[in-house]
Amino acid sequence: MNKSLSRLLILGTFAGFFLTLWPGNDTSLLAESPDFTQIHNEYLKLRNTDPSVQELRKWRELGSNMQQVSQSRLRADESARVKFDASIVYEKLYRRSDDSRDIQTAVRLLEGLVTDSSSDLADDALIRLGDLYRVVLHDERAAVSQYEAVLKRFPKSDSAILARHRLQPSAEVDQDAARTKRDGTLSIVLDPGHGGEDFGAKGFGGLLEKDITLLLSKRIAEILRRDPLIEVMLTRQDDSFVPLVERTSFANERNADLFVSLHANASEHADVSGFEVYYLDNSDDQATKKLVERENGSDVGSGSDLAFILGDLIQTGKIESSVKVARSVYDFTKKGLSGAYPPLKWIGVKKAPFYVLVGAHMPCVLVEMFFIDHPSDARLVVQPKFRESLASALATGIRNSLGEIHE
Ligand SMILES: [Zn+2]
Repeated sequence: MNKSLSRLLILGTFAGFFLTLWPGNDTSLLAESPDFTQIHNEYLKLRNTDPSVQELRKWRELGSNMQQVSQSRLRADESARVKFDASIVYEKLYRRSDDSRDIQTAVRLLEGLVTDSSSDLADDALIRLGDLYRVVLHDERAAVSQYEAVLKRFPKSDSAILARHRLQPSAEVDQDAARTKRDGTLSIVLDPGHGGEDFGAKGFGGLLEKDITLLLSKRIAEILRRDPLIEVMLTRQDDSFVPLVERTSFANERNADLFVSLHANASEHADVSGFEVYYLDNSDDQATKKLVERENGSDVGSGSDLAFILGDLIQTGKIESSVKVARSVYDFTKKGLSGAYPPLKWIGVKKAPFYVLVGAHMPCVLVEMFFIDHPSDARLVVQPKFRESLASALATGIRNSLGEIHE
């Protein structure tokens, strides 16, 4: 039995705490039901242990269990979440099996969420449905009608931003951004690291970096949006794979004022823990090199890409602002958390050649929010209360750093 698997088994129950949805709406404040925790953990575990869907039988069994459980024994919001995740299971199955019944099941599950008026995943389901039509089924007309439905039914949602992005050529998006700028609004792009097939770091009890980064990013966005002069956009809204290069081009197209990529760390050294913020620059530090290898890994397979990164690190005129932003985000997070959580370690502000930051036209930083494979950090990160404090401290740091950019 390998080390990570035994960790999974020993600490399997740990994941249940983490998987409590963020207390952003009334229903998620309720404790999740045992059936939901169980099926959701099964889903995460299989995704984690068999990311490339080798064991079709297990995936099929999971898909059918998820459908069954979602039809009974769950609250409406839990049932919707399980159906949404089941659609991902069937999409994965289709990509492996090429059996059209699998993709039909994925579509049917998403359509169910779209027509269910009580579901708060309807907008996410429409986006996902559009992406399925466009990317998997190559039905552009059907894709466009899903995105248009998002704009019509949920014009104020985060998903509307995504839908507009998928519908419009980039020149029109630029005009949108310019309009916003005239209002005196500052726009921030938050980038939840990893997603989809790319899990990022793996922590205790099936804890995945990509899930933590999404939870935190969504919460930070909510907090920042309380300021009417701040506009926040996310590079991904759900568990989907977004190539690194698309993340900064998303920010560039919108003429964003700041790009913040959120990550969680892991290390083979048991004594390493803590929080750090990076800006883009070259570095000879060995530990940093390891981290960069992992963070860059999902996209940077070929030698030519790597050469491009190392050769094109100059981010003209933005490094100075980026350093100030990194400092502000780091200082305010430390200030917000170190009193209540004295054991936390504060590593500092560092430089590193992160691919996701290359090519951004605005100040940009990458935040490593603690080591999720380290027991002391992981135990905190799974606690909603801790994440709330972390999100609020990060939001304060990000908000204050805007002054550094425009002074
Ligand atoms: Zn990462």
